[in-house]
Parts: sequence; C-alpha cells; structure tokens
Amino acid sequence: MLKKDTLLNLTGYSAKVGGWEFDTETLEQTWTDEVYRIHEIDYPFEPTVNNGIGFYAGNSRKAIEKAVRHAVECGAPFDLELEFITAKGNHRWVHSIGKALLEDGKVTKVYGSIQDITDQKLADNEVHRLNENLELLVAERTRNLEIAYQELIFHLNEIEQFTYISNHDLQEPLRTISLYSQLLKEEFSDKLGQDGKQYIDFMHNSATRMKAMVKGLFDYSLVGTTGEIKIVDCKMLFESVLSGLQFAINESQAEITICSLPTISCFEAELSMLFQNLLSNAIKFHRPDNRPLIEVSARELETEWLFSVNDNGIGIDEKYAEKIFIIFQRLHNRNEYTGTGIGLAQCKKIVKLHGGRIWVESQVGKGSTFMFTIPKKLSVVNFQHQLSQNIHAPGS
Ligand code: ADP
Repeated sequence: MLKKDTLLNLTGYSAKVGGWEFDTETLEQTWTDEVYRIHEIDYPFEPTVNNGIGFYAGNSRKAIEKAVRHAVECGAPFDLELEFITAKGNHRWVHSIGKALLEDGKVTKVYGSIQDITDQKLADNEVHRLNENLELLVAERTRNLEIAYQELIFHLNEIEQFTYISNHDLQEPLRTISLYSQLLKEEFSDKLGQDGKQYIDFMHNSATRMKAMVKGLFDYSLVGTTGEIKIVDCKMLFESVLSGLQFAINESQAEITICSLPTISCFEAELSMLFQNLLSNAIKFHRPDNRPLIEVSARELETEWLFSVNDNGIGIDEKYAEKIFIIFQRLHNRNEYTGTGIGLAQCKKIVKLHGGRIWVESQVGKGSTFMFTIPKKLSVVNFQHQLSQNIHAPGS
C-alpha cells in the first residue's frame, strides 16, 4: 500500500498539479515535488515568494505580483493562467490558483495549486491558429465566389440583353427579306425563270427558319424569368397545352392518354412550355405508317415527382440520348421533320430551374419515353430573376 504523501505526489505527477503555500510573515514557501518538476529545479533550491515570482515572464510576472499582494493584504483569491521560464530555460504555461488562510481576521498563509497546462495551451493556440487560418480561407473563398457570381450575373445579363436585342432587331430585317422575296416572286414571276424562283424560295425559307430560331433563342433565354413558383394542377395545365396543340393532334390523329397527374409547386408558364415541347415532339416524330399513341403519367417518389411522356414514334439511337438536349442539336434534316433544335434544350433548362433531371429511354423504330423529375421541395437557385429585371426593350 502506498503511503499518503507518496500517493499525493504520484497523483500530482500524473495530473501535473503541484501544491504550494507560504507564510505571510517569513514569505518562505513550501512546494510539493510536482512544483519542483514544473519549475525544472531540484531540492537544494529553497523557494520563497520572491524567487518564485522571479520565474514568471513579462505581463505574467506583473499579474502574479498583484494577485499575491491582494491575497496577502486582503485575502483575495486568484485564478490565473500564466507563462514562465523554467530553471532550464523552457517556456511553460501554468494554471495557478491561490487562496488566503485567515486567523483572527488576519491573513497568515496563502496556499494554492499550480498545474502545467503547456500542452493544452499549445493545442489551444494551434486550434486558434487553425481556426483563424480557416476563417481567412473561408472569407477569401466567399469573396472569390461573390466576385465570380457577380461576373456570372454580369455575363448572363449581357447574353440576355444580346438575345433580347437580337430577337427584337433581327426580326424586322428578316420580315423584310421574307416580304420582298415574296413580292419579287409574285411581281417578276415571268422574268425570273424556274431557277430564279427556286432561289427566291430558298431565301424566303431561310429567312423564315432564322426567324423561328431567333424566336426560339429568345424563348430559351426567358426560361425562369417569367413568374413566381405557384401551386399548379398538372392535369389542368396539360389539358390547356393539349387544346393549343389541337391542330397537330387532329392532323396526325394522335391518341393521347393522360394518367393521373399531381398538383405541384412549379413555375407554371415554364412547366406548360415543357409539356408542350415534349408533347409536340411526341406527335411530330411519329412513324409515317403509325398514328401516334402517347401516354403521359406521373409517379410519386420519396422526394420528387417523376413524369413521363411515352410515344410509339421513330425512337432515338441510344448514342444520341444526351446530345439531343444540347441547343440546335437535331438528328434529322429539316425536310424530314421541321424544327429548330431548341425544344429539348429548353426542356432541360426548365427542369434544371426546378432542380430536377431529364433523360430519355428509347428504342429506334419502337418509340421513346422522356422522363423528368420535379422535386417536391423546390430549392431553386434562380438568378434568372435577377437577370429579367435588367432586360429592357431597346429605346425604353
Ligand atoms: P426540334 O424538335 O426542333 O428538332 P428538339 O430540341 O425538340 O428540336 O429535339 C431535338 C431532336 O431530338 C429532334 O430533332 C429529334 O431528332 C429528337 N427527338 C426529340 N423528341 C423526339 C421523339 N419524341 N422521338 C424521336 N426523336 C425525338
């Protein structure tokens, strides 16, 4: 069994805590073994209040002097974290607690503990330093992101402005080319000859196509700028899209089945455009010998709605499944199927605006299923709204 003082010393050693006391008359101090160890000094050394204080450095020395004086004069306790230099010249941090012992209202002794907290202090300082570095890094990254974001907004604004002006200013000369080419054909028909008339038709068709492309680009640029998120009954929205496509439906004798569709939060005008693009493609890309059979449905998943538009049309080769969502990418020449190649890019932009995904599953000659998701909780990063406010009609 360990003797009491040995046990005390061992406890002090393992906790790096030592005990001390001094007599207020003689100012002679008593230290436990651990206090000697903390000071890195051996026994012949006889501690006093003054030579003890001599180990403390800089402001810590002033602090301990003041604390000891108050303890001796008026019995005030102290609890300080201090730095000192050991007898071997090593830098240490200690936690020093002091209390006064009073007899007949007079302070006769001051006693306390001293604990080596160098490791903890170094670790704290390191954590502090790392935190400061981290904060600086985060602040710098945030600043860079803000700059990049502002630049992005600036460039997108420029593009939006450009698209708006292109649409507005290019439509007029294109209309003029169309009009005068038709007039030329009508009024000088007898002088033009077969080739001349054909050239004028090329001109007229190109101008018409360019008008459609410019308009398509403009519509594309407007995605996300037209309104607010609303609660929308998709079945009603789909039916209104159908009535707008009545001519194409009648002409192709398409049969369209709508399974139950949900009510969701979304940008209404954009969702309507999305339905319209997918549906008009499903009608347009039908096999010549088959009437289009189209089925529209939606399925509730855990965090999102999964919509699908299925057709029995010409299908798409798997290798083009991603390419078709890129603007102006078409798989057919315009004599086979009309179009500008903007519709699916617009669909992708609309789905992304809602934070969803869009893809196609298809087999050539059998049909395609376009699928897209709309999250139930929209977290729309919609800087498009910031853009729309900056678009002004030329001259306005
Ligand atoms: P557009 O319809 O004006 O050509 P889109 O961007 O809507 O442009 O479509 C891009 C291309 O994807 C189309 O040209 C077509 O080749 C293919 N595509 C789109 N939808 C279908 C579909 N339902 N069936 C077969 N091919 C399709």
